[in-house]
Amino acid sequence: MRVHLLYSEEIGLERYDSLLDLLQTIKGTIQFVKQRDQGVQLRVTGLGFMERKGSEKRHDFHSSTDLPSVSWETLFNVCRTFRQQYDIGDNEFVVLLTDYANELNWFSAPDLSGARNMFVQTSGWGVFAHGEWRYPVVYQIVTNLLRHFMARNLEEMEDIIHLESIGCMNDFNRDKRGIQYKLRTADICSACAQRIKDHVSDKNIVRQVIAYMDLVRTHMLFRSRFTFTKQPSSLCISRNGQEIKFTDLGDTLFELSPLNKAVFLFFLNHPEGVVLNDLVDHQVELRGIYQNLNPNKDQEAVRTTIENLVQPGTGGITESLTRIKRAFVQAVGADIAEYYYISGRRNEPYRIGLDRVWVHWE
Ligand SMILES: [Zn+2]
Repeated sequence: MRVHLLYSEEIGLERYDSLLDLLQTIKGTIQFVKQRDQGVQLRVTGLGFMERKGSEKRHDFHSSTDLPSVSWETLFNVCRTFRQQYDIGDNEFVVLLTDYANELNWFSAPDLSGARNMFVQTSGWGVFAHGEWRYPVVYQIVTNLLRHFMARNLEEMEDIIHLESIGCMNDFNRDKRGIQYKLRTADICSACAQRIKDHVSDKNIVRQVIAYMDLVRTHMLFRSRFTFTKQPSSLCISRNGQEIKFTDLGDTLFELSPLNKAVFLFFLNHPEGVVLNDLVDHQVELRGIYQNLNPNKDQEAVRTTIENLVQPGTGGITESLTRIKRAFVQAVGADIAEYYYISGRRNEPYRIGLDRVWVHWE
């Protein structure tokens, strides 16, 4: 079952990609299709009848107040146009991600005309720590997929929604704080479970949705415990360094480009730290790690890449460190990220603070 994810301009590709990374950690019947791979760049412009013409001012999508709002019809029309333009089959889903608020202030909604469209709001998750917006968004996407089979129209939808919170996926939460409750329980009440049994014939879809709900739950619990344990997640590094996973976060894969990954693994090997200008003396080791990650790359290319990276004054290494830091902040939020990224002061050793007892090589 293919699910096309449309990003809108205000989200930006970096956030879009990091959401996709998270969605793709669980494989199965539900396949999330990245539109960039097909060369489709859907940019939702002209959404904003509320945007002042000629105004360069960008909206602050991180604060939940004063978000410009769009009608449901406008949002679903974007999905419909996309379907038509790219000849998307009726049995495939189209999900529009947008930072805009919507007329009824829902976090997400299915197209109740029966088409397999939905929108999910990706902004205003400020009550969740930075980088965490992906978890409630993943939850919204997958539970809406399931809900599509459970309710075919508005009446049926009203039937399955619980106005009182009972910790079920079909709780109707009025605010984003309330939603944390169902994210943590990751539960489905017995009435809804029966309905799923009766209405969803492909049990693989159900299993996969539940796996996503568990992933979100694990993350939420880890985070709430972290506030008092201050205990970071273990890292599991496997396949010769190709794969880095957060063990205590449901084995979430941590993605970095090969060069940045090589830099990270190098510093992981040097708990004592290394002064950035001294990296030129460590080229052999860096080359070895980088070559390991790219077994098919020719040696000369590897040599050049590493030379450019460590050459003092070129900024290569600084840029790499910035990207690594940003990736960790995106993945686990700023406070937990501090344990993993490489930091230091000018002319002093740069290092990764993480106690290496949390690192496991496989
Ligand atoms: Zn229920």
